[in-house]
Amino acid sequence: MKIHFLGGIREVGGSCIAAETNYGKVALDYGIKVGDKAFNQFPKDFDAVIISHAHLDHSGSLLDLSHKNPVIVGSRMTRDVSIDLLRDMVKIQRMNGNNFPYNSHDAENVKQSWWIRDSIALPGMLIRLYPAGHVAGAEMTSIYAEDKKVLYTGDFCLHDTEILEGSNLDILPKDLDALIVESTYGGTVRLRRSELVDQLLDQILLTIERKGNILIPSFAFHRSQEMAKRIDQAIEEGSLPKYHVYTISQLAHKITGYFNTNKHFFTERIQKENAPFSYKHVKQLRRTEQIKEPAIVICTSGFGHAGASFHLLNEWAGDEKNSVIINSGYLPPESPLRVAKEKGELVDNGTKIPVKAEVKQIELSGHADQVELIRLVETLRPEQTFLIHGELEQSEALSKELSGLTEVLIPEPSEVVSL
Ligand SMILES: [Zn+2]
Repeated sequence: MKIHFLGGIREVGGSCIAAETNYGKVALDYGIKVGDKAFNQFPKDFDAVIISHAHLDHSGSLLDLSHKNPVIVGSRMTRDVSIDLLRDMVKIQRMNGNNFPYNSHDAENVKQSWWIRDSIALPGMLIRLYPAGHVAGAEMTSIYAEDKKVLYTGDFCLHDTEILEGSNLDILPKDLDALIVESTYGGTVRLRRSELVDQLLDQILLTIERKGNILIPSFAFHRSQEMAKRIDQAIEEGSLPKYHVYTISQLAHKITGYFNTNKHFFTERIQKENAPFSYKHVKQLRRTEQIKEPAIVICTSGFGHAGASFHLLNEWAGDEKNSVIINSGYLPPESPLRVAKEKGELVDNGTKIPVKAEVKQIELSGHADQVELIRLVETLRPEQTFLIHGELEQSEALSKELSGLTEVLIPEPSEVVSL
């Protein structure tokens, strides 16, 4: 079997790996680099394309396959959310007046080619999917072919979050010939989840005491629902007082609907509730004008460069009573949230506004940290381990820790390896 390292190599973004045998060729993810104007020019001659989860850096180039019709495989959640994100991408490109070669029919074509399966057999190849943690519907992929056993993790975590279980090591295949693993946080050891959640609730409480507004920019898929559920529960249990809490994002609200109707993706506790994401203390708003202040607002975009989060950042950043809570680990270099955090200013139409609100980054990540990555390798005992989906320094830091457990390789972009 040959492995082609096509995208998301020595960086985060535009993930795509190909596994090729004498009988066929399968793609593992088909992403874009978010922010790039053009699609990656990935090959299109695949028998099947497996999508690990519905983040655009793993699924965003699928429109490019809309007339090729290879079989696309992934969970129901991954399909439904990916298609919505692709439609949204088309809408934004059109709104910005870009000459975008795809329309919503292409997104529909992708949906029609999608198989919701836990396993598929292709000539000489057996493929299985396993829950990966990270976000709802995320899956790892194993491939058995030509006497080789390979596992591709996609994005994953082993730790449970408030709504989702981490990946279960017991059910993953062991004694692999090759493990292809993300290394986003390969050099990072993170605080325990419960400590991070405490930090979040402390910051919210502190701001409530001074009657301030709290802006929490979040991605429409998963992070937004996870945050709303966490705050809803904290108010219900009495660890936060009653306060105006809102979510603003049409896309997030649509995805919240999928969460309510697909409870089986979540923890047992969530499954026992009737409509777990129909919150008691969190209201869905359509527009920022409907906000009754002071309030906690969870809204898109996650990086603060558009939508309600852009608007509220500009409106609230000048007041020291307010807080901005960033829960994403990665922030693009010029994104307003990063500039607000690092330089303490906002730039609106060329005018610089000083940021007086407290800007806190509390990283509630859905990725494995170094400790989890080592545990994965110790348990799966791969002959060879390929580190992808990480900045080089993160991969190199992890590589050092893994030597002695497995043969570690950090492939170069476009490298092809024979197993
Ligand atoms: Zn992801």
